[in-house]
Amino acid sequence: MRFNVAGLLRATVGATRQYEIEPELVRDDGEVFEEVQGAVRMMRTDRGVLVEAQLRAIGSDSCSRCLAPIRTRLEASVEEEFYPINPFPGVGLDLEERDEDRGLDDTVFLIDDRNEIDLREVARQALIATRPMAPVCRPECAGLCPVCHSDRNVSACACESSMSRPASLHRLAEQWRLKR
Ligand SMILES: [Zn+2]
Ligand SMILES: [Zn+2]
Repeated sequence: MRFNVAGLLRATVGATRQYEIEPELVRDDGEVFEEVQGAVRMMRTDRGVLVEAQLRAIGSDSCSRCLAPIRTRLEASVEEEFYPINPFPGVGLDLEERDEDRGLDDTVFLIDDRNEIDLREVARQALIATRPMAPVCRPECAGLCPVCHSDRNVSACACESSMSRPASLHRLAEQWRLKR
């Protein structure tokens, strides 16, 4: 997921390049995204290179109901400007100007000293942001019993009766009283 943009930085503002990302593993801080792939469009700006990418990947997650490990299909869009470390004619901003130009909490993406753009970090951030909030292993997943925490997909537990929850709580209270 590295692209050499020396040619693009020497081209005129507005020049574009298109690339395909071959399926690649992106991993960091316990996050693993497999088969990260997609289409990339890069455009020379007056400050560097604007990268737009449509990404697909497979993420690792756990079912929000039964906690089983699952894989989720993810799609993410990336739009980030990368600034060159090396000087290029007509690439206008120096580092101080860039500092003023950016918001304080903005991450800066740099084109490295080999004139390469590494898309892995932006891809990782974009994919993390599109992960589903409450993924399920399958729509009919029965989840864990809130009382005894056994997996109700595997077997029904004793807590599962026709009683409503307040009724079970009432019965638990009764049992507790009897024990004393
Ligand atoms: Zn599940
Ligand atoms: Zn139970």
